[in-house]
Amino acid sequence: MAIERTISIIKPDAVAKDVIGQIYSRFENNGLKVIAAKMKQLSRAEAEGFYAVHKERPFFADLVAFMTSGPVMIQVLSGDNAVAKNRELMGATNPKEAAAGTIRADFAESIDANAVHGSDSLENAAIEIAYFFDDSEICPR
Ligand code: UDP
Repeated sequence: MAIERTISIIKPDAVAKDVIGQIYSRFENNGLKVIAAKMKQLSRAEAEGFYAVHKERPFFADLVAFMTSGPVMIQVLSGDNAVAKNRELMGATNPKEAAAGTIRADFAESIDANAVHGSDSLENAAIEIAYFFDDSEICPR
């Protein structure tokens, strides 16, 4: 096992539902430590930049509109196999297909309002962490 870092974003739908604490409990109960966090209202440019990989996809404009519809809670998670562990806790992109007991199964309504984002590889995790956090904002522990 290797200690990894990954990005988690609690999306506007889940922030509005006041389930930040419940989602943090799942991280903490499964070996993922929060080592940096910020609540932020994303600008359109920030959301477009973050999801640039999807810019040719038909859902891109709706995704950017959704991600800027209210504040998001962004955190760096650290732990053994953090990238895969966070993806496991999140569940499938479409909450209708997400395994029982996952964050998306329990808190998400639809494929576009799906409660959380998580980096899908170690390489993307490093890019996404640097997108939102300076090194000085991260507290390894
Ligand atoms: N998305 C969407 N419609 C789709 C596919 C994806 O609105 O048909 C949104 C959804 O919010 C998803 C995000 O685009 O979380 C990124 O898609 P990806 O396939 O990378 O899924 P994820 O890694 O978030 O599970």
